[in-house]
Amino acid sequence: MSPTLLWSRDLVAAGTALFQRALDGLDDASFADPTALAGWTRAHVVAHVAANAEALVNLATWARTDVETPMYASPEQRGADIEKGALLAPARLRGWFSDSAAALDTALGALDGAGWTRLVRTAQGRTVPATEVPWMRTREVMVHAVDLDGGVGFDDLPTEFLLEVLHDVAAKRSRSADGPAVVLVSTDPTDSADGTPRSTAWPVAGAGEAVHVRGPLAQLAAYATGREHTGLTSDRGAVPVLPPWL
Ligand code: ZN
Repeated sequence: MSPTLLWSRDLVAAGTALFQRALDGLDDASFADPTALAGWTRAHVVAHVAANAEALVNLATWARTDVETPMYASPEQRGADIEKGALLAPARLRGWFSDSAAALDTALGALDGAGWTRLVRTAQGRTVPATEVPWMRTREVMVHAVDLDGGVGFDDLPTEFLLEVLHDVAAKRSRSADGPAVVLVSTDPTDSADGTPRSTAWPVAGAGEAVHVRGPLAQLAAYATGREHTGLTSDRGAVPVLPPWL
């Protein structure tokens, strides 16, 4: 998982800034436009990301107090809150995003060493140490910044995020193994800025003989997370269709 806490909290801040940049690129009238996410307008995406910050504040509170505080009351409640939130005026949604992101930052800042190691439960039912909360948030703000379609694309996401999300998604997909077997192969330069070699291939377990899918890191991450992608090639002709990521 994430190399250090500092590293992952920096990524949260970078992702929050990118989501903010995408939001700033949108005028209020476009909040009602559909996104690539089935049934969701941009307003739904903003409401979901704001509600996610509040849900993760619950986990931070759980970690700080050792009193069980679930992310959401129930999956139904989570869905209902997004539907209700999507009806808010754009100015309210913008404010909700900023306020909830700031509240999460404060809640994470209040954790001490014992708090960070405490075990909490995610909405998917996984038990994880609180140190995973910043990564959970990073994934949300980074990928949904692209979903907003407000001028931020996968190419704008930091390389360290792309590498980590490929690692994360390949592991998750391999555990469920409910799609075709693929190997995601990066065609980007293999050395990082400081000269250390970085990962270049991510195998995903699944059905059949593995198909190699090659392309730039950013496009591999778009493909792996089930988003629109471009410029990928495969040794089998068409790039295999993957089942939903989450
Ligand atoms: Zn999400």
